[in-house]
Amino acid sequence: MDHIKFKYCVWCFKDISKVGFSREHIIPSSIGGLIYSDHILCTKCNNDFGTEIDSNALKHREIIELAHEFGLISDTSKYLTKSHDINIEAEGNTIKGYLKNGKVYPIPQQVSDDHIIVPDDITKETITKLVKRDNRLKHLSDSEKENEIEILLKKYAEIAHGNFIHSKKLGLLLKKGITGDKINFRSKSVNDPLVPLVLKIFYEWLSIIAYDDFFRSEKIFPALRESILSKEAKSGISVIRLEEKRDKRSFHCVIIEFDANSTICLISLFSKITYQVFAPPLELSFLDFHRKANKLDSLCGIHIEENFHDSKKTILFIDDSGKRINSNIEAN
Ligand SMILES: [Zn+2]
Repeated sequence: MDHIKFKYCVWCFKDISKVGFSREHIIPSSIGGLIYSDHILCTKCNNDFGTEIDSNALKHREIIELAHEFGLISDTSKYLTKSHDINIEAEGNTIKGYLKNGKVYPIPQQVSDDHIIVPDDITKETITKLVKRDNRLKHLSDSEKENEIEILLKKYAEIAHGNFIHSKKLGLLLKKGITGDKINFRSKSVNDPLVPLVLKIFYEWLSIIAYDDFFRSEKIFPALRESILSKEAKSGISVIRLEEKRDKRSFHCVIIEFDANSTICLISLFSKITYQVFAPPLELSFLDFHRKANKLDSLCGIHIEENFHDSKKTILFIDDSGKRINSNIEAN
C-alpha cells in the first residue's frame, strides 16, 4: 500500500526521517499473508511485533498444522515446542494435548491419581518409552522388558476405554485413554497467542483506513494499545473465537464494520480460525472521505481478502446494504 505514506510509525509515532521504516506484513507472511506496507511501522516496532506477536502465533498448534496443510511450512517439528497449548478435559482431568490432522490427542502423562493416560493410537510407543526411561527397571533385561510389554499390550487391547491395567513387574498403572471426537478440548482462553495477533491486525488496518480518526479516538485507540501490550482484550475490547467454520471464505479474510455504537472486526485465518473483535466506536469522518473519493452513496465497512494460492488480494468497501464495492485502496 505504497500510496499511503505515514510520516510517523503508527505504533511509537517516531518520525520516519529519524527511525526508518521496514516492510510490515499485516497478516504475517509466514502464514501466507500477502498485504504489506513499507510505510506504517518503524524497523524497531516491526521487529518487536515480530518477536512478541507473530512468532508466538506460529507456536499455536492449530496455526502450525494449517500452515503445514496449506504447504507453507514443510517441517512442523521446527515450530513445535515441548509446551503444548491445548488443554484437554478427559475423564475429569485436565491434561495436555496436541492437534494432528484436526484430531485431538492427549500427550501420555501422569494425572492426579497416579495413573497414566495413554492415547490409543500410540500405545506401544508410549509404553515402550515409559519402560525404557524408568530407572527402577534396571534389573530387567531388554528381552524381559519386551516380553512384559507384549503381555501388557495384549491385555490393553482387550479392556474397554476408561479401564485400568496394571503390570506389577513394570510398576505401571495404565488407563486406556480416549482420543479424537470423544475428548472435550479447549485452548487456554488466557494467553491465547492468537489474540494479540488478531488485535495487531485490527490496529494496523484501522491505522490505514481511519488515519487520524483512529489515532485521536479517546476509547478504541488507547484500549487497543493497552490490549496489545498486555496480550489480552481490555477496556471495552472483547475478542471471541467463533466456533463456526467459514470454508467458503477465501484464505485469509478481515472484515471491519463501523457504526455509531461500535467497531466490529472479523478475522478469519486459513478460512478456519475465526475471531470477532468488538470495540468502541470511532469518529466516522474518514468514512465520508472514502465515500466521496470513491463516489459511493453509503459506506460502513471494509472487506479484505488474501489468497496466496493465486496471489489474489482484494480490498473492498461495504455499503449500508452489505454490498461489496471495489475500493481505491491498493494492495501490494
Ligand atoms: Zn515505531
